[in-house]
Amino acid sequence: MKVTEIQRFCMHDGPGIRTTVFLKGCPLRCQWCHNPETQSDKQELLFTPQKCIGCGACAAVCQNSAHQITDGKHILNRSRCKNCMKCTESCCSQALLPSFSEMTVDEIFAVVNQDRAFYGDCGGITLSGGEPLMQPEETFALLRICKQNGIKTAVETCGYFDSSLIPELVSLADCFLWDFKDGNNQRHQQYTGVSHNLIKNNILRADTIGAPIILRCIMIKNVNMQEDHYRAIAELWHQLKNGVYVELLPYHAYGGSKMTALGGNDNGNPAWIPAENDLEKAKLSLESHGVKMKLE
Ligand code: SF4
Ligand code: SF4
Ligand code: SF4
Repeated sequence: MKVTEIQRFCMHDGPGIRTTVFLKGCPLRCQWCHNPETQSDKQELLFTPQKCIGCGACAAVCQNSAHQITDGKHILNRSRCKNCMKCTESCCSQALLPSFSEMTVDEIFAVVNQDRAFYGDCGGITLSGGEPLMQPEETFALLRICKQNGIKTAVETCGYFDSSLIPELVSLADCFLWDFKDGNNQRHQQYTGVSHNLIKNNILRADTIGAPIILRCIMIKNVNMQEDHYRAIAELWHQLKNGVYVELLPYHAYGGSKMTALGGNDNGNPAWIPAENDLEKAKLSLESHGVKMKLE
C-alpha cells in the first residue's frame, strides 16, 4: 500500500486512542488541502530547503543534475527530476523525502498491532489520507486483518468513490468519519473540483445498511461558513438513521509548508481561519436546526 505516514496515539481521528494510517491518492483537489502530499497517487519528491545542510550528497547521486548547490544555496530543478528517489536515500537531514513508502498489509498491521494495549474498549486503527478507497482491495484486506485480530476499525473518507464498494466497506469498518465539505454544490465544485452529489448519495447508501457515521465538516471562513451550508448539514443529518454526531473542524493553514515542499505555492490562507466566535455561531446555528454536535 502507498503509505504517506502512520501517526500513533491520535486522539482526534475517531473514538478513543487511534493509530492513523494515511494513504496516498485522492480524487478531490480541495483548495484548502492540509495533506497535499496525499493527493497524487504517484511518487513525488518532498524538498524542505530549511533542513538542507548543503552536504552535496544528492547532487552526487542524481543522474539528471536536478540538484545545484552554489555558494551554499541549493536549487532543485524539478523539470529535470524523474522521481527515482535516489537522492532521498543519500540525504542525512531529511531535507529530501519520498512522499510515500510502499508497505504490505502485514507490515502495516504489525505497526498497528504494537499499539493494541493502548486502544482500550473503543480505540483502534483509522484509515485516512488522501482517500483510502483509492486503494480498495488493500484497504479491505487491512481492515479485515484488523477485525480478525480484534482491533476496532474506522475509515475517514471524502466519500467520493465507486458506490459498489459500500457493502463490503460497511461490513469491515466499525465507524466512519465522513467529510461533508459544502452543501452548496456550486461552491463544492469550485473549491474541491467535484460535485457533492456522489458524496451525499454514498453517505445515505452507507447509512441505509447500518454504517455509524460521524459527519466531519471543515469550517472555512469566507467560503463555506454560511447558512445555506448549515441548513444542508442539518438536512443530511436528519436523513441519517445511524448518525453519531456532527463535528466541526476549523480550517488551519498547516498544509502550506507541505505544498511548498512539493514544489507548489503555499496554499495556506489566513483569511480562511475562523475565529472562536465564528465557530460558536456555526455551532449554535446547527443546534438550532436540531443537529447533534460532538461534545467538546
Ligand atoms: S479530500 Fe482531503 S486529502 Fe483530498 S484534497 Fe480534500 S482535503 Fe486534501
Ligand atoms: S528523485 Fe531522482 S531524478 Fe529526482 S532529483 Fe532525486 S535523484 Fe534526481
Ligand atoms: S543530501 Fe540533503 S542535506 Fe545534503 S545537500 Fe542534498 S538536500 Fe541538502
